[in-house]
Amino acid sequence: MDEAIKAPLATQAHQAPHIPKVQPPPHAVSRLRAERLARSSKPFLARGGIKGVRCPGCRLVPSHCLCGLGLLQSTRAGVCLLMADIEPLKPSNTGWLVADVVADTFAFGWSRTETDPALLALLADPQWQPYVVFPGEFVRPERVVHTVDMVDVASHAQDGGLPSKRPLFILLDATWAEARKMFRKGPYLDALPVLSLHPAQISRYQLRRSRRDDHFCTSEVAALCLELAGDVAAAHTLEAYLDVYTHHYLRAKQQLPADRAGEAHARLRAGMV
Ligand SMILES: [Zn+2]
Repeated sequence: MDEAIKAPLATQAHQAPHIPKVQPPPHAVSRLRAERLARSSKPFLARGGIKGVRCPGCRLVPSHCLCGLGLLQSTRAGVCLLMADIEPLKPSNTGWLVADVVADTFAFGWSRTETDPALLALLADPQWQPYVVFPGEFVRPERVVHTVDMVDVASHAQDGGLPSKRPLFILLDATWAEARKMFRKGPYLDALPVLSLHPAQISRYQLRRSRRDDHFCTSEVAALCLELAGDVAAAHTLEAYLDVYTHHYLRAKQQLPADRAGEAHARLRAGMV
């Protein structure tokens, strides 16, 4: 999914749903992408070169636009994407999909030398319990957890107890080599618990999704985390949306129309009822 999408065939134009005239305000990943583009001295060219106009709302060509699906939802958990420098610019970055679904998605560019004060403020915000999502085998065992606090906020508050904190999943949106560097060289992450996804949860997911390997993309990891936190509807929406997005992306690349009545779209719609 790394190559740029080619321009749609002119013959497809008649059936193209057009980019909505009124776009919702850009989400955190979209804003980060715009900031990163503004800092670039030369235009970013994805492998294969970017051809054709892209929709600013979904990054697809207009004929394959996925805006207006109404996927955004409130969840108990939040997602904080720490993105490697070039990541927001990649047309296939799936952190973007997380921000399309999870209302409380935050995104920050990672740099070895500078830390965004807004990231530090977020991590210090008492409403959140941040977890760094990272494989436990690379971490001191005392930092590793496999579950998150599932206490129901409302019932807890009714009991007169302190409301439990909302889980905030910090995902390192990067290649594996970059993610290891980000994990080691981000001192603000050192004090935080590390959520290591449990092999049993991973294999259940693989079974459900007919996946053979465990190299998950960012939106898949986010879906697994949301499920752990009890945000099951959002987790399933994100899973189905990844399939829909992948379908549209690949069909655009092949210069073929997307099948909006197909199986992936049907599953996404079913999950939204
Ligand atoms: Zn769009």
